[in-house]
Amino acid sequence: MTGLLRNSLCAMALSLFAASAGNAATLLEPTLHVKPQGVEGGGGRVALTLDACGGKTDTRILSALVDNRIPATIFVTGIWLKRNAEAVEIMRAHPDLFELENHGGRHIPAVDTPQKIYGIRSAGSPDAVQAEVESGAAALAGAGGPAPRWFRGATAEYSPSAIAMIRRLGFKIAGFSVNGDGGSLLGAKETARRIGAAKDGDVIIAHINQPTHAAGEGVVQGLLALKQKGMTFVRLDDAEGIGNDGTTD
Ligand SMILES: [Zn+2]
Repeated sequence: MTGLLRNSLCAMALSLFAASAGNAATLLEPTLHVKPQGVEGGGGRVALTLDACGGKTDTRILSALVDNRIPATIFVTGIWLKRNAEAVEIMRAHPDLFELENHGGRHIPAVDTPQKIYGIRSAGSPDAVQAEVESGAAALAGAGGPAPRWFRGATAEYSPSAIAMIRRLGFKIAGFSVNGDGGSLLGAKETARRIGAAKDGDVIIAHINQPTHAAGEGVVQGLLALKQKGMTFVRLDDAEGIGNDGTTD
């Protein structure tokens, strides 16, 4: 290899590195915990959060929550709200159980630089992040409920500057501490094991929009196991959620 060719290859490699470092923001996946009940409190306290990204409603989970009186915080998108009127009606009929919060208007990751996260294209600019957050809140207001106070972006990953912007728009950002269903792609057994192992103060994330996935069956089994153990379920609006990365303070 000639010195000239070697130098130009080096320069090319360097410029490729600079291009990727310049474009892609470092992403954060914040955690969230609720205030633990403590040893004298009983079986412990967890918050169940369920994402309704798009698609349909997993009625196995919805029925189990209603039948067993398990409160949950549901993160809904504008897309999901439009297509699941019946499920929304059931949730609205049980305001003691269901708190509906903002999962964005169109399920676009709240990342203000152009990149792909789990194959989903990010919002790509500050304006687009703002539009995603505000359109999600507007869709919820249009569905006649109380104004949302929490936001969780698609994929639950954020650029640091997007976190700051979402806070300025008036929302707390809902991370989690137990990934219950691996994006609804885990089997029933592993999902049940993960959710059933939640500890005092944990915030569980799973999905309520994939009725054909095995994970949904595991969500129900895991929740019933927690209830059996004497765990109390709280919603984000009645718990003091503490997140890292500037998501709640
Ligand atoms: Zn989602």
